[in-house]
Amino acid sequence: MSSSLTHCLSLLNSCKTLTSLKQIHANVFKTGLDTDPFLVGKLLLHCTVALSDSVDYAWSLFRHTPKPDVFMYNTLIRGLAESDKPQNSIIVFIEMRKKSLSSPDSFSFAFILKAAANLRSLGDGIQLHCQALTHGLDIHLFVGTTLVSMYGECGCIGSARKVFDEMHERNVVAWNAVITACFRVGNVKDARKMFDLMPFRDLTSWNVMLAGHVKEGELEHAKKMFLEMSVRDDVSWSTIIVGFAHNGSFDEAFGFFRELLRDGSRPNEVSLTGVLSACAQAGAFELGKILHGFIEKSGLIWIVSVNNALLDTYSKCGNLSMARLVFERMPDKKSIVSWTSMMVGLAMHGQGEEAIRLFHEMEKSETRPDGITFISLLYACSHAGLIEQGCEYFSKMKDVYNIKPAIEHYGCMVDLYGRAGQLQKAYEFVSQMPIPPNDIIWRTLLGACSIHVAEKWKDVAAVRRSMTDQRLKKTPGWSMIEVNKIMYTFMAGKKQDKIMEEAYEMLKDILLRLRVEGGYVPEIGTVLHDIEEEEKEDSVSMHSEKFAVAFGIARLCEGKTIRIVKNLRICRDCHVVMKLISQVYKLEIAVRDRSRFHSFKNGSCSCGDYW
Ligand SMILES: [Zn+2]
Ligand SMILES: [Zn+2]
Repeated sequence: MSSSLTHCLSLLNSCKTLTSLKQIHANVFKTGLDTDPFLVGKLLLHCTVALSDSVDYAWSLFRHTPKPDVFMYNTLIRGLAESDKPQNSIIVFIEMRKKSLSSPDSFSFAFILKAAANLRSLGDGIQLHCQALTHGLDIHLFVGTTLVSMYGECGCIGSARKVFDEMHERNVVAWNAVITACFRVGNVKDARKMFDLMPFRDLTSWNVMLAGHVKEGELEHAKKMFLEMSVRDDVSWSTIIVGFAHNGSFDEAFGFFRELLRDGSRPNEVSLTGVLSACAQAGAFELGKILHGFIEKSGLIWIVSVNNALLDTYSKCGNLSMARLVFERMPDKKSIVSWTSMMVGLAMHGQGEEAIRLFHEMEKSETRPDGITFISLLYACSHAGLIEQGCEYFSKMKDVYNIKPAIEHYGCMVDLYGRAGQLQKAYEFVSQMPIPPNDIIWRTLLGACSIHVAEKWKDVAAVRRSMTDQRLKKTPGWSMIEVNKIMYTFMAGKKQDKIMEEAYEMLKDILLRLRVEGGYVPEIGTVLHDIEEEEKEDSVSMHSEKFAVAFGIARLCEGKTIRIVKNLRICRDCHVVMKLISQVYKLEIAVRDRSRFHSFKNGSCSCGDYW
C-alpha cells in the first residue's frame, strides 16, 4: 500500500464533518488516487455511514466514478435508503440493474428492501421480493430478515410470518424483526409468543418488547419487563421514562430517572428531554432545577433539544426569568422549537407584546415560522387582548408564509374575538370557517359567552342551538402541587386517602377564616356554571385546586410560593378564593391552568381577572 494511500485512509478515519471530508477528497485528487476503486469505495462509505448529512455528496461522488462496482452501488443504495428520500435508493438500484455491469448480491437486496420498508411501499417491496427470488436470495439470512421487516412496516404480518417461517437459518436479528412486525400491527399476543419461543435473546429483543408494551399503553407489562431485564442500556431507560411521562404517570417517570442516576448510568438526550417534559407537565419546579444543575455539570447543556426542554419546563413551572435565561444563553443556533417555546411562555404569562417582539426577532434571524409558531403568536395576541395584531398575523400567515390555517388557528381567532367581548364577530367567524368547527371551537365560544353573560344572554342561546348535536366531552379536573420534591395529585371531590383527608381538614379551616376575615361568599353555581366548567363537580368547594392550595398551606414552610398546576381552566370561585388567601395568609400563589398563569399576591391576580 502506497504511503499516500495510507495517509488518506488514516485522515478518513478521524474525519467527522463534510468539510474535512471534502478536503480529503481534494487531496485524493491531487495525489491521483481518485481512480483507486478501493479508496473511492471507502470515501463513499464514510459519506453515507459515518457522516449524517453527506449522502448528496456521496451521490455526486458516485456519479463521477466511471465504473462503479457492486460495493459502491450497495454503499450508495444503503445511504440513500436511510436518507429522508428513500425513493432515490430505488432509482440507483434500477440503474444498477439496467447497466447490468454487476449483478445485485444479498447486500444489495437487504439495503434496497430497507428503502421499501422506510417508504412503506408494499408494491416496491413485493417486486423486490420477486427479484430476490429469481436470484435465489430470498431465503438468505440478511435478505430474509429485511423482508420480514419490510412486510412488517407495510402492515402485512401474514407475509412477514411466512418469510420468517421459510428462512433456513434464523439469527437473533431475524427474531427481533418478526417480533417488531407483530407489534407494528398491535398484535401483542403473538409478539409475546414469539419472544417466549426465541432460542436466544439479546438486549435488542428486550428493548423491542419494552417499546412494544409502551406503545400499546400497557405500562404495567412494560414495567414488569423492565424489572426482569438483567442488562439495560440507554434505549431501555429512555423507553421506560418517556413511556411513563407520556402517559401522565409523572411520579413513576421521575422514579425511574432517579434509579437511572443511582444505577450510575448516564442519561441520554431522550431520557433527559422525557423527564423534563414530565416536569413541565406536572409543574415540578424543584425537580426541574435539580435536573438543570445536573445537565450543566454533566456537560449536556450544548444539546439544543435539552435546552428547549429546560426552557419549556421553567416556563411551564411559572419561572419565566429562568426560561428567558436558558433561551438567551443557548449555545448553538436556536431552533424553531426554541423560539416557539419562548413565545408560548411569554404568552402564558400575559406578555403578548414581548412575544410579538420575539416573533420579529425570529423573522430577522431567518428562521422560518411554521404553523405552530403562528398558533403561539395568535395565542399571545388573544391573551393580551391584541385584536388588531392578531388579525394582522392571521393574514400574514396565509399571505406571506403560505401556511394554510388549521383548526387550532381558527380556535385562536375565536378566542381572540371572544375574550375581547366581540361575540358577534366570533360567531360570524365560526360560521364562515372553511373547515367544520370542532368541540374545542364551540367550547371556546361558550367560555367567551359565559364571561360576558350579563349583557349577552342571546348569544349563549344561539351557540347552544348550534351545538345541540355536538356532545361535549367532560374532562375530570385535577391539580398538582410539589412539596419537598414530591408531586401530589388531587382530583375533584375525592377524599379517599390520608393526604386528601389532611387537605380537606385544612381547607375547612381556610374557608372559615376567609369568610370571617375576607368576607368570602361562595359563588354557588351561577346559571352558567355547567357550561363554564368542563368538570362535573358537585360543589365548587370541592374543586381540586382548593385541595391543592390547602395542602400546600399545611405542608410548605412559610415564605415559599405555592405553585399549582391545574388541567382545566380555573373557575371564578376558585379564583376569588386564591385572591383572598393571598391577602389573608400573606402568601404568593401561582396557578397554571389550561390556558395561562395566575400569580396571586396581596389580594389580586396578575391576569387582572381576565382569563
Ligand atoms: Zn373551581
Ligand atoms: Zn387570575
